[in-house]
Amino acid sequence: VKVILFEQVNKIYDNGFHALKDINLSIGQGEFIAIIGLSGAGKSTLIRTINRMHNITDGRLFVNDVDVNSLKGKKLRSFRRGIGMIFQSFNLVTRTTVLKNVLTAKVPDLPVWRTVLGIFPKKDYIDALEALEKVGILDKAYSRVDQLSGGQQQRVALARTLAQNPRIILADEPVASLDPVTAKQVMQDFKKINKEMNITVLINIHHVELALQYADRVIGIKNGSIVFDGSSSEVSTEV
Ligand code: ADP
Ligand code: ADP
Repeated sequence: VKVILFEQVNKIYDNGFHALKDINLSIGQGEFIAIIGLSGAGKSTLIRTINRMHNITDGRLFVNDVDVNSLKGKKLRSFRRGIGMIFQSFNLVTRTTVLKNVLTAKVPDLPVWRTVLGIFPKKDYIDALEALEKVGILDKAYSRVDQLSGGQQQRVALARTLAQNPRIILADEPVASLDPVTAKQVMQDFKKINKEMNITVLINIHHVELALQYADRVIGIKNGSIVFDGSSSEVSTEV
């Protein structure tokens, strides 16, 4: 089943910079894809068109057969909620607990007074705790985020995304600010989620070795064009 389809997609930023050039790409449900390339190649622009953080300039882009650029208002918001997004900088509320971070993503439409008072539906508590267990930080549920290591914080971000029940997760350099050992652990978490939950995962990563080790498919981008697309076993780092 195809979940993401790019047809001749171009992205030209408002300042005239041509960031994506004639992108054609077909991605199936459950694939684990690493997008590699130098800084400035267009990796971030590419994944951010998928949940429409960026509009494309021309071409067509479908997610689950929906024409992404036709979505507006409520439909766009609910579409975005179905796609998990993970950032290099974690983007958590650091002065509150791990559990509360996960819960507020889980129930974005809850009345503000309930969020303020910390009153969440029981089922959402269970889902949130399950998500924390899945990424191995259940014991940190009541810790404040700013007391955790970088790797633990990225796991909180992953749990928060999982609590939204996404079918797709986009991750923009999720391990770039982590030490090598922690980076591997976080990549393993992505792999586990991909395999166990059949979630399609796209990760931007400039660390080629990690990409080859964990991803099934590697897409190389250079100056806004796809220059490589194949299984990770086809790539050699010897050259
Ligand atoms: P990567 O993720 O591979 O580092 P990006 O997608 O962030 O690359 O950026 C690709 C190119 O587009 C870079 O040259 C960057 O400077 C440029 N760019 C990114 N965002 C914008 C923007 N909002 N306006 C203009 N140029 C941009
Ligand atoms: P879009 O059309 O996808 O909304 P815009 O061209 O409006 O993108 O740019 C989005 C934001 O990124 C703007 O606020 C712009 O100032 C900022 N930006 C501009 N140039 C760059 C760049 N080289 N790298 C990253 N961000 C940039």
